[in-house]
Amino acid sequence: MSGAQRNPCGTAAAVQESARVIRVAVPVPLDRLFDYSLPADSPTPVIGSRVQVPFSGRQLLGFCTAVNPPDAHGRLKAVNRVLDQDNFLGPQLWALGQWLADYYQYPLGEVLATLLPNAARSVRPLPATSSEHWQLTGTQPVTLTRARKQQQLLQRITDLGGHVSTAALLEEGYSKAVLKGLQAKGLIVRTTRPPLRSSMQGSVIPPTLNPEQQQALETLLAHRQGFAPTLLNGITGSGKTEVYLRLIEAVIAAGQQVLVLVPEIALTPQTLSRFEARFGTADVIHSGITDRARLVAWLKAQRGELNILIGTRSAVLTPFSNLGLIVVDEEHDASFKQQEGLRYSARDVAVKRAAMLKIPLLLGSATPSFESLHNATTGRYRMLNLTHRAGTAVLPEFHLLDLRGRNLDRGLADDLIRVMRRHLDTGNQVLVFLNRRGFAPALLCGHCSWRAECPSCERPLTMHRSPPALICHHCGRRERLTQSCPKCGHVDLIPVGQGTQRTEQVLIEHFPEIPVYRVDRDTIRSRARLEAQLAAIHEGKPAILIGTQMLAKGHHFPNVTLVAVLNADGGFLSPDFRAPERTAQLIIQVAGRAGRAERPGEVYIQTYQPENTLLTALLAQGYQGFAEQELISRKAQHLPPFYPIALLRCESGSADAAREWLLRAKSLLPTSVEAYGPAPCIIPRVADRLRFQILVLAEDRARLHAGLRQLKALPPTPANIRFAIDIDPYDTF
Ligand SMILES: [Zn+2]
Ligand SMILES: [Zn+2]
Repeated sequence: MSGAQRNPCGTAAAVQESARVIRVAVPVPLDRLFDYSLPADSPTPVIGSRVQVPFSGRQLLGFCTAVNPPDAHGRLKAVNRVLDQDNFLGPQLWALGQWLADYYQYPLGEVLATLLPNAARSVRPLPATSSEHWQLTGTQPVTLTRARKQQQLLQRITDLGGHVSTAALLEEGYSKAVLKGLQAKGLIVRTTRPPLRSSMQGSVIPPTLNPEQQQALETLLAHRQGFAPTLLNGITGSGKTEVYLRLIEAVIAAGQQVLVLVPEIALTPQTLSRFEARFGTADVIHSGITDRARLVAWLKAQRGELNILIGTRSAVLTPFSNLGLIVVDEEHDASFKQQEGLRYSARDVAVKRAAMLKIPLLLGSATPSFESLHNATTGRYRMLNLTHRAGTAVLPEFHLLDLRGRNLDRGLADDLIRVMRRHLDTGNQVLVFLNRRGFAPALLCGHCSWRAECPSCERPLTMHRSPPALICHHCGRRERLTQSCPKCGHVDLIPVGQGTQRTEQVLIEHFPEIPVYRVDRDTIRSRARLEAQLAAIHEGKPAILIGTQMLAKGHHFPNVTLVAVLNADGGFLSPDFRAPERTAQLIIQVAGRAGRAERPGEVYIQTYQPENTLLTALLAQGYQGFAEQELISRKAQHLPPFYPIALLRCESGSADAAREWLLRAKSLLPTSVEAYGPAPCIIPRVADRLRFQILVLAEDRARLHAGLRQLKALPPTPANIRFAIDIDPYDTF
């Protein structure tokens, strides 16, 4: 039953009489708020209450943003229902919502709807989250001889370390009455937070920190108060996670909560069990959990009933009662940027939240984003470097494999096959990286000019073998894999190029006795299957792993001694300005999987352009040197992180309609910003929609945002057009 209905009259009545009109943020794509009248018998909402209101014949759940706004006028529709008498999101998340709407130029009603967990979008009562715990007070018991059950329970709680949850005790057969008895005598107290299991009591003995880790940890511990953003720049295998864990432990021990953000793929049971082994419990929010589980975690964080929340992108939008630290692991990862709707960057929102709450923020990566490197160079962030691998592991050795004029067997140089055999014969594992899933990126007829093409995107369909299909990787269209040419009838169809499925097949032919595991979006749809594969790989027997960038993220493969990058060239030639940064990150991250244990590793990179300056800079000077060089070119081109940019993206079935809309938007922009376009996107057509964009840049953020605010004068977007403002876009496809 909602609190709104239970409200008695009395003191609230006086307020009710004066509350006649409320202003509501409704989840519709219009950048304005709507006024509603409040029925006489309705409970009074406050700013932040959820309210149900009629809108264009529907009932929508919105948020009250003002009570009795002075400029309300006209005949108003009535509020249907008031769900809360408090600010549902809480003051911190509410303030964040206002900032998000302004920064990302997105309607407040839709921003607030994004902040609301799905399961809280109905009028149903909220679930109970009680994680009730009991704790010994330390008071010496007077004799309990006449209360034998109480004495037993007291002994049991002592045996359990002085802390226990109600649920656990009920399961053991103790009754609530006995608990209440001990509470009445002042021997135990109720708490809602689970106890912190310190590393000293836990089941895991933490590894000893090396001097660099120790130094980093001491610096972090010395800056526990106030907004203190730190970039932990540590090579793969340098033990960043151990530094996080020690810092997190200190924050929880001080009674505060911790939010840990991880990339989508990294949140495997492996990651989670590492936290649980150290802290007893950890709650999670990611795309794989149910709406209800998400709401429960959300409420526990808001009610102060959890110590640590680990989550992917959207977890940054969780309310906390006492947040003391945010950690963003692999802060460079693309999955932190939301690519539709409210196009926020979870990393950037984390920075904002930490600043608003005046708490420390820890960004970690082996390949930091250029934004974070720039912030460190200009002194906005403190940078701590971990340059040594933890334990005895050593860094892998890099080799370029010049493919020019060489014989390839479906994408694999014979030299590479030889090197692979050497590593497998000595009992090691090999990782083959190819950032293209499917069997072949194109299918042609050997007799006529036909090629399999997506009619909606005008791009080649990717041939898949398991299961057989022709799939468009842009719009998802799926067609039957034909055996003969639909144009001339010949059966001579030729798959062109290599995807992971084809490379898998080639590797099985070359190494029939070795198991080959493929890891890409097609094989890891099931979390259980991924875990089973990883478990088999971790047995450590000779094996070949073939996969896309999913292999580069978070997983540890201690028995891999050879990493082969089959095609590094595409990324350095892409017209997208972030492609070189992204490619370098991928190569370094994939290479980081090699030689993590005591076995030294090797990395082979196949390339047709061994003299490419970006590639040679990366190999000669490492990621840091590459970044310094590439940043010089970003600066010269007036691109981020030196100049903030935004993209005005427009899609329509009609090129003219899209172009005209963008020209209209452009005419509203002041001369304090530079605008380029409209121009067709790098991928000009997806699912029958033509795509155009305008690149907007300015000397500083204030100018950029002031300029973009002028776009509020645009009329509602016509139905045949999709228009979006993408602030700090991650890609320019
Ligand atoms: Zn043909
Ligand atoms: Zn398509």
